[in-house]
Amino acid sequence: MSIHTYHTSKPHKDRNDWQNMKRILPFLWDFKGRVILSLGFLLLAKLSIIGIPLILKEIVNYFDQDQAVLTLPIILLSGYGALRIANVLFAELRDTLFSRVRYHAMRRLSLTLLKHLYQLSLQYHLQRKTGAVTRDLERGTRAVSSILNYLVFNIFPTIAEFVLVAFLLLGQYPHVFALVTFSTVVIYIAFTFAVTNWRMHFRHRMNALDSKANSIAVDGMLNYETVKYFNNEGYELHRYDHTLNEWEDLAVKSQASMSILNTGQGLIIAIGVTLMMMLAAQGVQQGHMTIGDLVLVNALMLQLFIPLGFLGIIYRSLMHALADIDLMFKLLDEPVQITDQENAPDLRISQAKISFEQVCFSYQSDRQILHNISFVVNPGQKVAIVGPSGSGKSTLFRLLFRFYEPQSGVIKIDDQDIQQVSQNSLRRQIGVVPQDTVLFNESIYDNLIYARPQADKQEVIAAAKMANIHEFITQLPKGYETLVGERGLKLSGGEKQRIAIARAFLKNPPILIFDEATSSLDSVSEQSILDAMQKVASHRTTLVIAHRLSTICDADHIIVLQQGRIVEQGTHSELLQYNGVYTTMWKMQQNQNTQNK
Ligand code: ATP
Repeated sequence: MSIHTYHTSKPHKDRNDWQNMKRILPFLWDFKGRVILSLGFLLLAKLSIIGIPLILKEIVNYFDQDQAVLTLPIILLSGYGALRIANVLFAELRDTLFSRVRYHAMRRLSLTLLKHLYQLSLQYHLQRKTGAVTRDLERGTRAVSSILNYLVFNIFPTIAEFVLVAFLLLGQYPHVFALVTFSTVVIYIAFTFAVTNWRMHFRHRMNALDSKANSIAVDGMLNYETVKYFNNEGYELHRYDHTLNEWEDLAVKSQASMSILNTGQGLIIAIGVTLMMMLAAQGVQQGHMTIGDLVLVNALMLQLFIPLGFLGIIYRSLMHALADIDLMFKLLDEPVQITDQENAPDLRISQAKISFEQVCFSYQSDRQILHNISFVVNPGQKVAIVGPSGSGKSTLFRLLFRFYEPQSGVIKIDDQDIQQVSQNSLRRQIGVVPQDTVLFNESIYDNLIYARPQADKQEVIAAAKMANIHEFITQLPKGYETLVGERGLKLSGGEKQRIAIARAFLKNPPILIFDEATSSLDSVSEQSILDAMQKVASHRTTLVIAHRLSTICDADHIIVLQQGRIVEQGTHSELLQYNGVYTTMWKMQQNQNTQNK
């Protein structure tokens, strides 16, 4: 698979970094006051640090006087100390004030992203790579924090310091000093940017491979059983290692290129500082500068280049962070396909009648799945949908639940088009017992109460009893507190399905969709499930997607689907009289049952 499918770092050209930076700003605006105050402290911290070499100059000059010095320059020395303390104090105040802004921005972004992921359609979630998405999400929010950090703690301070130093040099010394400083800084920055940009593609490819390796590992873990069924540990490890091998080579190249960058930067700084010192020394020799000036120039330059030394690293990290942020915003820009109309009203249930009118649907435009489907489920009725595998049964339920929207035709509940009402209100009214119940890796109790978190313990137990699962649960050593394992793997299919039925009792919706399990359960489990199902379905409008016809003989109406078309419908006995598709299916299943006995 090509690495580009992993939504990993795009080349710089595809990105709009300014746009991305602008998108971060609103997240800061919650704490305007704090931002402005921290910037104020930043300026104060820088003013105090620039003051230190100035005082140093005065102290040196004081001792450089001809007459014997008898007293200590107490005021100057105290000023020196005070400025040092002030610098630390203001910097710490800035950090403390700004930390709330930074962490709050991270929190809001993470929340916005997760909310967005929930809004995205089932189609998106079916094709996403969990590993890659979580990586992008985590790296993206971390990158926002880093960018804010770099800006407030490194970039702004360095710019502020540079401007202050420039003013000082221009005001007090021949212009050549400012010129050398300015040129050194410009050459330094230009060199750093150029080499960093060249190095960047290593990092982008490393990110892509990192996501790919992670995706392979997570996919393998999620499919642990499949890997074991096919003895494919070796294959999985090979795929993983192949990607990591490429990653390793790139990481080494990236490290080597960093050494080139660091050496170049060191060279530029060394030349710049030496030049300045030569100029200052010459000034002292010619008598128009004092020893204090020499010390001042040296201290200023060193002070200026310390953060500039970091600026190289910062620029690199900033570029990486921008690449990560870009991926995160791409995720946020993933269009939400199923949206509520503006001011969509809530679905109001009076009788819970469902109707499909001329519904046509395709997942992909080149393959139509449902053709002109029309049927009605009257209030309180149990309607079964049967048909061969792949005929579109589950698709009908996904449309009713509005996981997808039909290309044409309307689905109505109590004469309200489900596309016109809010999704929340629609889903509140529908209970689903899926074919394969996936559970959270928590206790059975937590999984049950998920259906209605405000329910009390009695209600949860009552629902479990109705679903014929209470007895099984109480027999477990830890009872309701038993952990079910990832995706509920520690429970059998039948147990999970009964948990799903218990959840439906707890949710208590007027409409119920029951996607019957295909796996053949033993007759005791099956009877227990059917019994539970009958209880939960009574007095509710129920749509059953059935695989075993024996379970739906009593349905009020049976719809037979074949290749996305309704080919027959009626009651069980009516359908048997037609002697068509249903009869063939019925006879086949009857034969199987007798053979199995
Ligand atoms: P089964 O009895 O095996 O569960 P079904 O009758 O419920 O089958 P559906 O799940 O509705 O069948 O699928 C109908 C067709 O749509 C199938 O051919 C399937 O391959 C296709 N299909 C299902 N989901 C998607 C999807 N997300 N994207 C593209 N095609 C899909």
